[in-house]
Amino acid sequence: MDGPAWLDALGAIEDAPQPLPAPGAHDWLAIHEERGQTFDDFVRSAVRPHASERTIYIQPVDTEGSLSDTCLSTLAAFAGAFFQLAVRVQPPLVLERSSLLSRAAPDAGTPQVYAGDILARLYAGKPADAFCVLGITAHDLFPHPIVSFAFGEASAACRVGVVSVARYGPPFCEDAPGRPPGERLKRCSRVIAHEIGHIAGLAHCVYFRCLMNGSSSLAESDRRPLHLCPIDLRKLQWLVGFDVAERYASLHGFWRAAGEDPEAAWAEQRLLAANTVPPAMPVLFSR
Ligand SMILES: [Zn+2]
Ligand SMILES: [Zn+2]
Repeated sequence: MDGPAWLDALGAIEDAPQPLPAPGAHDWLAIHEERGQTFDDFVRSAVRPHASERTIYIQPVDTEGSLSDTCLSTLAAFAGAFFQLAVRVQPPLVLERSSLLSRAAPDAGTPQVYAGDILARLYAGKPADAFCVLGITAHDLFPHPIVSFAFGEASAACRVGVVSVARYGPPFCEDAPGRPPGERLKRCSRVIAHEIGHIAGLAHCVYFRCLMNGSSSLAESDRRPLHLCPIDLRKLQWLVGFDVAERYASLHGFWRAAGEDPEAAWAEQRLLAANTVPPAMPVLFSR
């Protein structure tokens, strides 16, 4: 036998999740040593939200001119479908620049602010019924003095997070002609779901190609799928308590309305599978 029994068994299942390939030299797992988080690890550390804490608040922070109201409401609809929770978009928050620790980005020389300062402001104003507050900002962010930049930063203990859209446009990324129109929506959706996943207690995934894979560059981030692997889906379902088929139906409706046919087709396929009685699992262990 070449690999673990459970991995061989997965290979025999049609439409099985894809194992995460070995990292390239500059990929996240070549730089960071991460051992992964099993479902049991998650359950030991995760705290289920109180029944009254069922709303995700999306808080625009210094986004004037970068994200339209339509864009924010589209991202809210995605977050609602993905997490099966109510979502509210808050009025924009404008922060005094002098209240934020800032520096020049080490890799680009462009202005950057300390993500922790934004997280502190979000935590101070967190509503009592919040599952979490997720800031979305046009500032480029750094999470720690020795880290060049971050697409987002989150605190599971405080249930707040912030994502940046700065690296999805010039000077970090040119709006090249011919680039698919939905790419920015998918990038924003991916980072929002990833950071709320961290807030929910999901660590980086090292098992499969998964939305919770770490990424150290925009190219690596773009390679992450827009969905969770079965292990991380099970963790989220344990935490939130949603109906898996209803969630796939919501995601199918969202991606179909957004005109993203491959994502809509994937969700529809999973919905069909979720509504089908599974065949008997192969016996992996004998007693
Ligand atoms: Zn992450
Ligand atoms: Zn995963």
